[in-house]
Amino acid sequence: MSGFFSGKLAALDPYVPGEQPRDMQYVKLNTNESPFPPAPAVLQAVAEEAGKLNLYCDPECTRLRAAAAALYGLAPENILPVNGSDEALYFAFTAFCDSTRPMAFADITYGFYPVFAAMTGTPAHIVPLREDFTLDPADYCGLHENIVLANPNAPTGLALAPADIESILRSNPDNVVIVDEAYVDFGGESCVPLIGKYENLLVVQTFSKSRSLAGARLGFALGSPALIAGLNTVKFSTNPYNVNRMTQAAGVAAIASQDYTLENCRRIVENRTYTAKALEAMGFRVLPSKANFLFAAHPAAEGQALYSSLKKRGVLVRWFDKPRIRDWLRITVGSREQMDALLAALKTILHDERGV
Ligand SMILES: *Cc1c(COP(=O)(O)O)cnc(C)c1O
Repeated sequence: MSGFFSGKLAALDPYVPGEQPRDMQYVKLNTNESPFPPAPAVLQAVAEEAGKLNLYCDPECTRLRAAAAALYGLAPENILPVNGSDEALYFAFTAFCDSTRPMAFADITYGFYPVFAAMTGTPAHIVPLREDFTLDPADYCGLHENIVLANPNAPTGLALAPADIESILRSNPDNVVIVDEAYVDFGGESCVPLIGKYENLLVVQTFSKSRSLAGARLGFALGSPALIAGLNTVKFSTNPYNVNRMTQAAGVAAIASQDYTLENCRRIVENRTYTAKALEAMGFRVLPSKANFLFAAHPAAEGQALYSSLKKRGVLVRWFDKPRIRDWLRITVGSREQMDALLAALKTILHDERGV
């Protein structure tokens, strides 16, 4: 890196998003997007709002916050809409952490947490998951550090009960516990009902996965009015118009399309059960997922080799070149057709190439 840049930037190892390939049409199961289009009401709302793009959007996101308040059973003061939940996480690291206030998180979890730590000069306290990838809440009790947990976790799909998270909240009263609920709509239990009870709880949700809005960039930080006010200070010190006009309108319409969302989540959960069973029948070990993806490993095939063979056959999944999980694949649960294409490709690969 050239000498123009700060030492912090030179040392930064940025997050690597899943591929968004343009070379050919893939069965795309690598970034946990929804296979379903946005709700019809969303398309209409965005089209109407586009005519007003000459005007700045509402920096307070008034309509969207009111709609989200009704959805989550909270007050507008509990809610900060953000440009994708990644932005909420970045705001939180900026607001709560520094060189003397570390952030604790698991060794196997969302890959953005260590990047935000590095970016904000925050020491990362890495807490290993158990051998079977479950998280021991006792590891976080009485830690007296800021904590971020993905629940359900990524890329494992394993979920904690809110009672376990409560024990972490109660024993760290002077620190913030961030619960990243990107996948909660696929069968996990939300900590949002605990917000009135714990001032140190920040829940982060996204409309990227269950609400088919990954490309619109919309997420929410949910917490006590004091925490949300602090995050607003970060927002209004960087980008007051962080959620654009069309995305605010899309969010309101997506919230009004709750039946559509619930039906899509139901279909994903159904396809998840179907795919997990089929993978197990092929000899895969599959973790019990509460998310819109499966984490699976085959005893007779290396993760990277499977990933490459699938890609050659036009099926894209996620493989992480990381200790402990090199032989695992994270596979987004898509439509039934996509799942059948994945299973057919895996059968060919395991049978023809490996004789399993
Ligand atoms: C996808 C994901 C996010 C980011 O979602 P955006 O709202 O699209 O920024 C955050 N946390 C986890 C664990 C995720 O998997």
